[in-house]
Amino acid sequence: MNTPRAEIAILVVEDNPFQRKVLSHQTRALGYRAPLEAGDGEAALTLCQQHRVDIMLCDLRMPGMDGMALLRRLSLSGFRGGIILASALKDDVVEAVRRMGHAYGLRVLGRLDKPASLGQLAGLLASWGPQEAPPAAASDPFVAAEDLRLALARGEIVPWYQPKVSLRTGEWLGVEALARWQHPTLGLIAPARFIPLAEESGLIDPLSECLIEQSLGDAANWHQAGRPLRLAINLSSHSLIEGRLCDLLIARCQLRGVTPKLITLEVTESAFVRDLGHSLELLSRLRMHGFGLSIDDFGTGYSSLQQLSQLPFTELKLDRGFVDRCHQDPVRLAIIESTLILARKMGLRTVAEGVEDKGTWDQLARLGCDECQGYYAGRPMPADQLPGWHADWLANGPDRQA
Ligand code: C2E
Ligand code: CA
Ligand code: CA
Repeated sequence: MNTPRAEIAILVVEDNPFQRKVLSHQTRALGYRAPLEAGDGEAALTLCQQHRVDIMLCDLRMPGMDGMALLRRLSLSGFRGGIILASALKDDVVEAVRRMGHAYGLRVLGRLDKPASLGQLAGLLASWGPQEAPPAAASDPFVAAEDLRLALARGEIVPWYQPKVSLRTGEWLGVEALARWQHPTLGLIAPARFIPLAEESGLIDPLSECLIEQSLGDAANWHQAGRPLRLAINLSSHSLIEGRLCDLLIARCQLRGVTPKLITLEVTESAFVRDLGHSLELLSRLRMHGFGLSIDDFGTGYSSLQQLSQLPFTELKLDRGFVDRCHQDPVRLAIIESTLILARKMGLRTVAEGVEDKGTWDQLARLGCDECQGYYAGRPMPADQLPGWHADWLANGPDRQA
């Protein structure tokens, strides 16, 4: 499916007017239509809001918002075009930025040298094709709010558990509860397909309650079986602030005889900062009762540092986008290293999410990160598979070599 060159919308983002003109000229010489031009990141974002952009040629070093910040903003705005990184920077830096773009879910087509040869530009531009249909979204007809309401009533939404282990000793410390929809005909549905729908349709509170009930029941069983595992539960910060989840959590822990010290609540959004007084009241109350509070996906939000400095968190979770193969990537490594130092100074426990290989595990252990959660240790699984996983981990996990 080839789109004629003259129909492809290109945007050149380059602060140097001469280089911008050269790129624009080269693009036209290759038979593409005259590109849009922006001299900085802000102008590029504005143009993207006003026009369709299929391919962006993006300089990395620009005053004000640099190329990296622009990529992050593009990712947040849902930009779906192709991106060509134009830079005279060293290979390893551009490679790190390319990975960062992928980690942000962007389509990075490749790297263009400066000055660029016409052949290289032609190859990169030609590698763009209209994107295949995005993965089925929460708005799929079968995942309607009414279906979700029924699923909750029928008990089809269940927690799966992903192990969290000590990076120092390999010891199994706890689990994170992750929602799964066991659909009678469609099979297992991932939370990305129904959590946003729950948030939009006012079902997030019933959904959270349903997961709290079930996972606290499992936690009580583990405790009774002599294995007091820590349990992490994801909560939408909005429902924590607006809803009655705080009281519910306290009451349910009492009822089940589970000490809140074993429970960590994971939250992401910046809703807390918007309503700081009320948030501080709720979060302090939860802390007073012994619950742990974790800032999830650290490094991806706008106000994460602000949240961290003002709110009584006990744990910081490094986002998968930074963790994955960080040992091969200087940019990710730098982010992780400085975040770990920051967390340590603030007395926060650190959890790395998305550890998929031994290299990443070793690197994080060296840097003194406390806990690992990722496919390398174990994938999310139903509660009854945890003992089998644990036996296997004891036999084959990295602590065997320790
Ligand atoms: P999250 O809280 O950041 O959860 C971690 C996600 O990363 C999980 O995806 C997990 O399966 C995945 N993951 C963990 N280790 C690895 C790894 O090594 N490699 C890769 N590729 N992925 C890994 P999952 O279960 O699909 O959950 C996605 C998101 O849905 C969660 O992200 C969380 O934001 C949300 N979510 C899940 N359950 C709940 C819930 O009960 N309530 C709320 N409010 N949100 C939930
Ligand atoms: Ca989480
Ligand atoms: Ca996370």
